[in-house]
Amino acid sequence: FKPIVAIDGPSGAGKSTISKLLARRLGFAHIDTGAMYRCVALAALRRGVDPDDEAALGALSLALNIEFRRVDGAQRVFLDGEDVSDAIRTPEVSLLTSRVSSLAAVRDNLTALQRRMGEKGGVVLEGRDIGTVVFPHAEAKFFLTASAQERGRRRYLELKEKGLDVDLARTVAEVEARDVADSSRQHAPLMQATDAVLIDSTDLTIDQVVERMAAAVAA
Ligand code: C5P
Repeated sequence: FKPIVAIDGPSGAGKSTISKLLARRLGFAHIDTGAMYRCVALAALRRGVDPDDEAALGALSLALNIEFRRVDGAQRVFLDGEDVSDAIRTPEVSLLTSRVSSLAAVRDNLTALQRRMGEKGGVVLEGRDIGTVVFPHAEAKFFLTASAQERGRRRYLELKEKGLDVDLARTVAEVEARDVADSSRQHAPLMQATDAVLIDSTDLTIDQVVERMAAAVAA
């Protein structure tokens, strides 16, 4: 028997880094559900699908082939056979992702796909609604957060490292705007599952967070 581990929380809380490390440590698969929503947004952008056309986006999300594959020891996201791991991280795609992920038709299709990917267990899923909607019976649930200022600062450093021309105050404001959009949407808003363990990473190192989670999963 292998458990399902759910990690939810707002953007910039460190979910991706921590999920990856926790999955490696436990020997589990890692499913980045945000990357899946980003794939739908990227495909919509490339094909010129109207972001307000829910039926068209629903159909698109059903038709896409989204997979996670290992390439040289690192996990990459493939959309219809193409490695889009970098293409889905642009600010333009991030913005559109918030919109497409608010549509019930898109969420229903991706939720079904995430359940198929994770139902056998031995998996760490990260997202916004894993512990509340996708796997409400997950054996281990975490809600990972940090102050908006700290999350904005982390994202800023990440973008700067990639050589992008970024502004700290603007990055913090973008993080806050995404929080509002993710928490106030009608379908599967971002919220902590009542039985999730809350971890505030503002003053914790990555290792401390992974340690705490691994101990809770083993308990
Ligand atoms: O985690 P990441 O920042 O890559 O997610 C991108 C966007 O996808 C989020 O801002 C959110 O709008 C959406 N998302 C979602 N549900 C998930 C994962 C991501 O709505 N389970």
